[in-house]
Amino acid sequence: MYQTSEQCAQQFKTMVGLPQVQKALQLIEQDQDRCIAEQCELVQIEAPTGHEEKRAAVFADKLRALGLEDVHIDRGGNVVALRRGKGKGPKVLIEGHLDTVFPFGSVKGVEQRDGFIYAPGIGDDTRALAMLLSLARAMNEAGIETAGDVVFVGTTREEGTGSLGGMKDFLQDNPDIDISLSIDNNDMSGIVYQATVGETWEVTFKGMGGHAFGAFGSIAQPIHAAARAVAKIADIQVPAEPKTTYCVSNFHGGNDAGVHAIASEAVVKLNFRSNSPEEFEVMKKKIFDAFEQAAREETDRWGKNTIEWSKKLIGSVPGGGQDEHAPLVETAWLSLEHVGVEPVLAKGGCTNANVAMSRGIPALCMGRAYAPDAESKTIYNHSLDERYPVAGAYKAVQQALLVLLMAAGVDGVFGSIVK
Ligand SMILES: [Zn+2]
Repeated sequence: MYQTSEQCAQQFKTMVGLPQVQKALQLIEQDQDRCIAEQCELVQIEAPTGHEEKRAAVFADKLRALGLEDVHIDRGGNVVALRRGKGKGPKVLIEGHLDTVFPFGSVKGVEQRDGFIYAPGIGDDTRALAMLLSLARAMNEAGIETAGDVVFVGTTREEGTGSLGGMKDFLQDNPDIDISLSIDNNDMSGIVYQATVGETWEVTFKGMGGHAFGAFGSIAQPIHAAARAVAKIADIQVPAEPKTTYCVSNFHGGNDAGVHAIASEAVVKLNFRSNSPEEFEVMKKKIFDAFEQAAREETDRWGKNTIEWSKKLIGSVPGGGQDEHAPLVETAWLSLEHVGVEPVLAKGGCTNANVAMSRGIPALCMGRAYAPDAESKTIYNHSLDERYPVAGAYKAVQQALLVLLMAAGVDGVFGSIVK
């Protein structure tokens, strides 16, 4: 049974009792059709990763029309807009990503049937952009004044080879961001409060190489050294919780011409991840110890020809995490319950929130779809059949509002729940 702290529950109760907050929640519900219409409009301005310019320009215009300040495109292509706070409080970022995984020409319009809207990228993450607009509109019309500044951002290069690039640029250029909220999870019931850290490495073993028969016994064997390493790695114990994994994904040495040769080189590639940065470091040390030991054992086996090994990082996603009772997590829990959604603590994640968490910024990734049953949970994101369930979609915007206000504070009423 998840129990929120008295302080968080109290502040939350105060917040939802405020007339301007009630009004904003109502406005968000009434804005549903307009929000869906903007989502359909934006999805048709295609934005493959690295080619977000057109969508960014339109999104920026919409934020400008809402009266946000200092709307601009930054050096990373991100759309940045400021809604100034009226008091003292943290600077809160709320963002969704502009890019989709689909190349130009994938979107042939938006189809609406069976309670869903269909288009590649309609949910991930175009919906988040429309949500940010609906959110800002409701805050304006309800006259909500936050204590801290709120920065609305449409980020670039989140997907695939973009590797969270827009977010990395933005946080590097804006070290004054105190709290970071992302919207990029299919089902809004999941609270993403951890960031799965992951790395991919290439390890190369080198020796002198020689004849399979003739050189036997006089030289150490790079492929055998690599095999020893992989066998050791295969035995490494990792916890099931927090989920921690490793995978040797590629093993290569020798060539067809050299089937009777001791190869001079063997290459191993592997990927490993964890929902806990501490467990990640423990595992990483064991893995690289295994490589070192394997090279030494193979060298010692023959006492001749030292096996050398080297490593190269070929991919990295930053991680981090926070306690499941961190103020933002409790706030998300209460917000979901308030809008009638049963919350779930998601384990791990790979979203823009990873970048914030890896920098030690309290962060959260929220969902964008209200999906109360199995049918509506089937969203097919990253597929050409991607679809988004329309009924109750406004609830995700309401959740975002409640979390945002708890984070930024309401001027003259309470400060940020995140101290
Ligand atoms: Zn996404």
